[in-house]
Amino acid sequence: MTYPKYINEIIELTHDMWQKGWDEYNGGNVSYLLSNAEVETLLADLEETDFEIYGDEKKEVKVLPVPENMQNRHILITASWSHFRNLKNQPAVDLGIIQTTAEGYQIVAGLNSGKRPTSEIFMHILAHAARLEQNPDHKVVVHNHATNIVIYSLLNEVTSKSMTLDLWSVLTESIVVFPDGIAVLPWEVPGTHQIGLDTAEELKNHRMVVWAKHGVLSTGTSYQDCFGLIETADKAAHIALELQKISGKSIYDNNTLSTDNLKEVCRALKVDSKYLD
Ligand SMILES: [Zn+2]
Repeated sequence: MTYPKYINEIIELTHDMWQKGWDEYNGGNVSYLLSNAEVETLLADLEETDFEIYGDEKKEVKVLPVPENMQNRHILITASWSHFRNLKNQPAVDLGIIQTTAEGYQIVAGLNSGKRPTSEIFMHILAHAARLEQNPDHKVVVHNHATNIVIYSLLNEVTSKSMTLDLWSVLTESIVVFPDGIAVLPWEVPGTHQIGLDTAEELKNHRMVVWAKHGVLSTGTSYQDCFGLIETADKAAHIALELQKISGKSIYDNNTLSTDNLKEVCRALKVDSKYLD
């Protein structure tokens, strides 16, 4: 039994995130947009696997008005109450492939024990729609509870601009990895249509969004792209937190990168950065 590459890679990704300590218990969710070529060979690709395939009995689950560019798309998505520590042992239970409609989705394959897709499905659909507007190669949305980013979001008065500049100022390559910065949304109840709408709004000009006091999500062209974004932001947040703890001073009272240093990096690597202006 061999899974298609995009299933093997989500199994690896979810386990790596759990090992990082970013997905305690049922925390975190991931979705992947299948390409037309992957949809064409979907049934043949899953035929020899343990993924249940649902034919004519597919029922529509209405959840939200789906943006036009996300209608009739196939999405691989993690289940509600999937445990990333254990997903690798039961991928066909904890993963499903859904096909979006105008108002929701139908389950096409997987979710063998009857689990639902993640309760953050609103956010995933709206996030894909927002990023596809910016980049036709966009494919993946990842949400988790990266520890240092969560701690950072618990500090007083953290904003998109302050957090972005803090993370850039302590690790030279941060600005190269996320030149569009990191957006910070104030705390909201998770799993709602509203948090999906607010997140999608920020995704018009960022690839990463922090949900204050909760976690982070990243969007990208591959699983590795999304993992790498969070890995870099979490590393920078860790350095910034340790720096303050060790020195007993605020970040900028240390020998951090200056705005001029950051502008020099941008010039050398030909990246444009709005938060420096
Ligand atoms: Zn969460």
